[in-house]
Formats: sequence, structure tokens, C-alpha cells
Amino acid sequence: MQEKKKIALVAHDNMKRDLAEWVDWNWEVLLKHHLICTGTTGKMVAKTLMDRRSNEHGRFDISFLKSGPLGGDQQLGALISEGEIDVLIFFWDPMMPQPHDVDVKALLRIATVYNVPTALNRSSADFLISSPFFDGEYVRTIKDYKAYIERSLNQ
Ligand code: PGA
Repeated sequence: MQEKKKIALVAHDNMKRDLAEWVDWNWEVLLKHHLICTGTTGKMVAKTLMDRRSNEHGRFDISFLKSGPLGGDQQLGALISEGEIDVLIFFWDPMMPQPHDVDVKALLRIATVYNVPTALNRSSADFLISSPFFDGEYVRTIKDYKAYIERSLNQ
């Protein structure tokens, strides 16, 4: 991973205020990285950064995917499998079933498959963003899935 990381930000509706506060608190660090957000989360993150950004910091680097229930979580999963996400910050709602629960499960699964540093709540996000690896280089080991890929050849 490079120093400038590709950071995915997602929050379920009841958790968006928490994420907005977290982004507001950490805006100076986040401005150094490329942020990739699901649709509605992205609008909120952009607004928070816009409010905070001073002229000396200039532009910020943000990409918007589809809204989570419309495929945004699956887009993120695809990006993870392509090695295009370095960190996942996902404030999911433990108190409310979601129409796209299966997509959420798939996203968390693929993040684990590829050993992506993942924070699922605010305190974990605080620990992640204050790690020396967050602004530095880091080599993420990925399990060797060669045996799995070649399994059909051995049957
Ligand atoms: P949203 O999607 O950012 O478009 O609200 C997030 C989600 O529900 O996964």
C-alpha cells in the first residue's frame, strides 16, 4: 500500500451522523487520501469536507459509487477483489435490518478474504486512523489461494 491510501467510507442511515462527526474530526488526515464512498454517504462526506476545507488544502479526492441498496456495496466488493481498496470504514447499523443485508454480508466477507483493514464502528475507526500505517507504507499479506484456484485441475 502506498502512503496515499484508497479508503472506502460507508454508513447506514442511522449511523451517518456518527460517520459525519468522525470525518469532521479527522478531516485533515482524510484529505491526504482518496476516498471512495457509497452514494448517500459520499454526499455527506463531501459536504463535511467542503465545510472544513481551507484554501491552503485545496481539492479533495473523492469518488462516488451507487447507493448501497442499489449496488454500491457490491461495487465496493468488486473493487476490493481488484486490489483497489486499502482500508474499509463501514459504520453499519446493528439495530435495523437492511434491504441489502446480503450485500453487506458479502462486502464484509470479501474484505476478510483480501485482509483489508476494516473498522465497523467508531472506536475501531479511531484506532485505524491513528495507526502509523495509516499515513505510511504497509505490506498487506494476502492468504495464498493457489490451491483453491487450482482445485478443479486436481480432481
Ligand atoms: P448509502 O449506502 O451511502 O447510499 O446510504 C450505504 C449502505 O447502505 O450500504
